[in-house]
Amino acid sequence: MKFNTKLIHGKVVSGYADGAILPPVAQAAAFRYESMEDLEGVFQHRKKGYAYSRIGNPTLTAFEQRINELEGGFSAISCSSGMAAISAALLTVCESGDEIIAGNGLYGGTIDLFRDLEKLGIHTVFADHLTAEAVGGLIGERTKVVFGELISNPSLRVMDIPGVSNIAHEAGIPLFVDSTTATPYIARPLSLGADVVIHSTSKYLNGGGNAIGGIIVDGGRFAWDFNRHRALMEFRKYGKAAFTIRLRTDIWENFGGCMAPVTAFLNCIGLDTLGLRMERICFNAERLAQALDRIPGITVNYPTLPDRPCRELAEKELQGLGGGILSFRAGSREKAFRIINRLKYALIASNIGDLRTLVIHPASTLYIHSSREKMEEAGVYDDMVRVSVGIEDAEDLIRDFTDAVSGAGDGVNQ
Ligand SMILES: *Cc1c(COP(=O)(O)O)cnc(C)c1O
Repeated sequence: MKFNTKLIHGKVVSGYADGAILPPVAQAAAFRYESMEDLEGVFQHRKKGYAYSRIGNPTLTAFEQRINELEGGFSAISCSSGMAAISAALLTVCESGDEIIAGNGLYGGTIDLFRDLEKLGIHTVFADHLTAEAVGGLIGERTKVVFGELISNPSLRVMDIPGVSNIAHEAGIPLFVDSTTATPYIARPLSLGADVVIHSTSKYLNGGGNAIGGIIVDGGRFAWDFNRHRALMEFRKYGKAAFTIRLRTDIWENFGGCMAPVTAFLNCIGLDTLGLRMERICFNAERLAQALDRIPGITVNYPTLPDRPCRELAEKELQGLGGGILSFRAGSREKAFRIINRLKYALIASNIGDLRTLVIHPASTLYIHSSREKMEEAGVYDDMVRVSVGIEDAEDLIRDFTDAVSGAGDGVNQ
């Protein structure tokens, strides 16, 4: 089955109870049993079933199995947000004294999280660009994981997953990839060499901008060395499943960042149209990037534009697609604001991956907690506008943006 057919006819969607075409919403906190022995069996994992929705729920299972199928994973776990997913995944393999290697130019919330982890004794070292050479030079005794974004938001750098994972694996380190901006429509990081894939489902997977969520997919192939990964020591009897088992029965369950059943349901509806939306969104984004790139004084960042540094990686890893996000530099912060304020169709909103086109000035919003230096390392500048392209007609979007740019005048003052 190809991608869109699998979305509609995949194994999971064909198997809901009573032939329901969507998973029933199990909006219940707890599940009752006929006897105490039955419930005991569920708690001891001898009997299939659910006990309490923080530690398992059938609507969550349906969504998790769909994403697991699309990513080609071993097991998936849904979370209350993308940030909950990233923190749970990292805390499953890191303890005090451990080190993470991460790329610059990551999502602002993730950079803020690394700062919080410092206070728990987990240190992050940053590579300017997550390449095999850069990662190789940073791996040390205490390194437990390499973390990066396949297409980074908002700097739009493309990670060389095969190169980085090879270097990491040689040193016994797994690679965790945040693939929120790529989605399984564009790439399947596990098949490229990643060990764990993370998504904020709030973005393209949901697609309608109606629920916050996250998901972690474990490839189940990484051979953990429990002398290095001491955080997993207690789970060593599970071998390659140690990450999933610790995550599910320990960190995820006890930190309590579970997804709401209705979110899993909304995500299942959104997922049905993921392929259609991504095809249209990538088409629109590339056309809009090309049109803006022709305007003097506007510098566009989009992975597949000619002569861009990540174009070759996009050809190799992203099927030549550039994704749905582009950014451009307007020349000054004032001009960036004027352009944003003149747009008719693009909504001024702090999100990506919606089917509506959204626009924001990252420096004054998403990076408000970052120093100028950290911001520029992340590829965010004072005159930069980020666009999350939607499914509107490309002609209308191009006209909206080109009119807004030409009407915004030049320089600081209009
Ligand atoms: C939005 C986003 C997150 C955080 O997800 P939330 O659902 O907002 O918690 C993480 N990584 C990337 C790349 C994102 O775009």
